[in-house]
Amino acid sequence: MRTCLFDIDGTLLLTGGAGMYAFADAFQAEFAVAKLSREVPFAGRSDRGIAAALFEAHGIPNTDENWRRFYAAYVARLDDHLHRCGGEVLPGVITLIERLEAQGNVHLGLLTGNVAAAAKLKLTHYGLWDRFAFGGFGDEHPDRNDIAATALDRAREHHGPSTGQERVVVIGDTPNDVRCARAIGAYAVAVPTGHTDVMELAAANPDVLVENLTDHAAILEYLAA
Ligand SMILES: [Mg+2]
Repeated sequence: MRTCLFDIDGTLLLTGGAGMYAFADAFQAEFAVAKLSREVPFAGRSDRGIAAALFEAHGIPNTDENWRRFYAAYVARLDDHLHRCGGEVLPGVITLIERLEAQGNVHLGLLTGNVAAAAKLKLTHYGLWDRFAFGGFGDEHPDRNDIAATALDRAREHHGPSTGQERVVVIGDTPNDVRCARAIGAYAVAVPTGHTDVMELAAANPDVLVENLTDHAAILEYLAA
């Protein structure tokens, strides 16, 4: 089985802040939070995990009921912000996807902290949703390592019975992406096209660190071996 799992924000695309604006709007509408705490980092985390940290920061009980209220409000606002914020598909992404598809035996999936509905809205907005057959998403687990395990299970289901060697690549823009690649025994590709400093990414010790995804030789080589 040959599988390439992609993070979304900072790896495939930048939304120009649409996700964060939709988070802030949802907290304002549902919980009367005028301004989101800046103490809670977003990068490399799951939406469930970010929401839990924001609930705590603003004294809101972290209940399933509050999560569901947040989720509905967030997803309802995201598309408007995507249209308003512009954003972009990152360099090399389309070509890398085309090259992987051309290899014929590589399955493309998502490994993201985004809730599935948000992943679909973001990738649909940039014309990329149809390129991915399965994924692990941020509404299933707060912890990214658990999302990685789910994504790998889905890859195996999607692929069907296989006798050959398994080669899995995880591509992401934060140290958490590298860590969750390790958690499932995958080859870790780090790309500093999000908001994480290149030195911080290097310190996470990925198998390969590229400037952006136009530099995809190592990925293709690993999956072709
Ligand atoms: Mg990311």
